[in-house]
Amino acid sequence: MYKNEQLDEEKVFKDPVHRYIHVKDRVIWDLIGTAEFQRLRRVKQLGTSFLTFHGAEHSRFNHSLGVYEIVRRILFNFEGRKHWNNEERLLCLCAALLHDLGHGPFSHSFEKVFKLDHEAFTRQIVLGDTEVNHVLRRVEEGFPQKVADVINKTYEDKLVVSLISSQIDADRMDYLQRDAYFTGVSYGHFDMERILRVMRPLEDQVVIKQTGMHAVEDYIMSRYQMYWQVYFHPVSRSAEVILSKILHRAKHLYEQGYQFSLKPTHFLSFFSGDVSLEDYLRLDESVVLYYFQMWIDETDEILSDLCVRFMNRKLLKYIEFNPNLQMNEWMELYQLFKKVGIDPDYYLVVDSSSDLPYDFYRPGEEGERLPIYLLMPNQELKELSRQSDIVESISGKKRTDHKLYFPMDFIQALPDDQPEKNKIKTILGLADID
Ligand code: CA
Repeated sequence: MYKNEQLDEEKVFKDPVHRYIHVKDRVIWDLIGTAEFQRLRRVKQLGTSFLTFHGAEHSRFNHSLGVYEIVRRILFNFEGRKHWNNEERLLCLCAALLHDLGHGPFSHSFEKVFKLDHEAFTRQIVLGDTEVNHVLRRVEEGFPQKVADVINKTYEDKLVVSLISSQIDADRMDYLQRDAYFTGVSYGHFDMERILRVMRPLEDQVVIKQTGMHAVEDYIMSRYQMYWQVYFHPVSRSAEVILSKILHRAKHLYEQGYQFSLKPTHFLSFFSGDVSLEDYLRLDESVVLYYFQMWIDETDEILSDLCVRFMNRKLLKYIEFNPNLQMNEWMELYQLFKKVGIDPDYYLVVDSSSDLPYDFYRPGEEGERLPIYLLMPNQELKELSRQSDIVESISGKKRTDHKLYFPMDFIQALPDDQPEKNKIKTILGLADID
């Protein structure tokens, strides 16, 4: 039967994080070979972070294989244990491999500007008329739906769901280590081997043997540090701001009937808000960057300038700025920018990032999360932050960081006798800079 078919010889992928990724199931091998999965090679895992950390060019393809490999290892340890039904094995592996399938180019900005949802596209790829769907359907008729349900977290067996999405899941364990490796930072490392050894299946979730608590603490702290040192790095956010302004500008120009010298064929359905799956899959990062390079030569000055900034890494500068407390400054800056001819809608941008490093269970609250449970020697379950002082100290604490982005070069280039120039510099705290 296709479902249980094994390759004659195991395939191995060399991987810098997990050393080797092992594939023995025919279904997994066939999924990796589909056009939709191969597309993930052309979508970077960390979006604009490569402009801050030049090593961060790794793709969602790498990451997806990594998540698959971690789940494969977890399930190897689960085999024969109480509560684990090995019938679910292939489903878990497929969901792990395919969980990010719907990510588009620079997902973060694209989703915001064009109001898209990568999870909806993942479902469409899994359930629609695609190569991935054809492979999954050969397993059994209802199998694509099961895979979609696991990724969607609605699958009835919550143990299966928790392997792919929980506060300590294969997805996070892979991206933390992988992103640390490719950015080259020293945070993000933890003893995954140890965590995998102490994971235990229960009825409805994975729990951690109490003896593994310190390894889990290390994992939580590494996640905390990666968020602030890498994911929310203000320079990557500057690139992200420029990227979304490019998309806004191009869409705006299209709506105004602007004549692009290169017809933005791949973007048309994004501009008009009716994106088919086919259109979506055709627009990967290599295509996006091609347009950005071409738009440098457009006559629209804003579009051209923003593309130069993105392609040549002429990023926006930033200061700390809390829009909730500094509304007046913001309004004043907005008017001053207008007066001197720097369009504030594109060149004066507040960006806020926030993260909750770990949360205990608060039923009914927004973003309700299943906590991590420790399995005590007497088989009792204890919530992690009640046992660990380190985790308790960061539990449930949301931290937010606000920055104001602006083009320093434009401001510097204003004539010195223009009174607005000094006002702008004073508000931005740049009065001493020539
Ligand atoms: Ca992921």
